[in-house]
Amino acid sequence: MFIEPSRKKEIMTPRTGWIEVICGSMFSGKTEELIRRLNRAKIARQQVEIFKPAFDKRYHAEDIVSHNDNSIRSTPVQTPSEILLLAGSCDVVGLDEAQFFDQSILDVCNTLANSGKRVIVAGLDMDYEAKPFGCMPQLMSIAEYVTKVHAICVVCGEVASHSFRTSPSRERVLLGETDAYEARCRRCFNLGDRVQRP
Ligand SMILES: [Zn+2]
Repeated sequence: MFIEPSRKKEIMTPRTGWIEVICGSMFSGKTEELIRRLNRAKIARQQVEIFKPAFDKRYHAEDIVSHNDNSIRSTPVQTPSEILLLAGSCDVVGLDEAQFFDQSILDVCNTLANSGKRVIVAGLDMDYEAKPFGCMPQLMSIAEYVTKVHAICVVCGEVASHSFRTSPSRERVLLGETDAYEARCRRCFNLGDRVQRP
């Protein structure tokens, strides 16, 4: 489990910031892990702000909602640059569904971390074709800490790192359609529709 570096509020001492990335497939618990870290920061009386891309309108516009209903309020933004305007005096910035941000999120994360903030980014590392997803590879490169979380393959029970799309659509972004995916291990992902279910 990720144990965060200590961050004591020491007046007059310039602090360093850093970037953490939490990545994995669908159903791997990325958002739950993001919420866990943010809740711990709140207990430590740090000011926390959470942002996500505005077009992710699943469930509730203002809430970051994980699949187990453990939720934290968040602010939808149209562009990454809005985060710089809104992050203000907070200590910790959380970003959910980060794979949907454009490449300018890299500069935004660096600017936030360079100004002393802790930045925690959660997102899908691969799309449904098992290709690296959007800005995530670069975010993992510039981060100080990277955590890859895993799901369980619904076919065979092995550790799963792939998001298999069960619907025929070839659109990369299928929002609010968690029913259209299953977590699969590499082997069952490659077998596709040829898997033998127990
Ligand atoms: Zn499997």
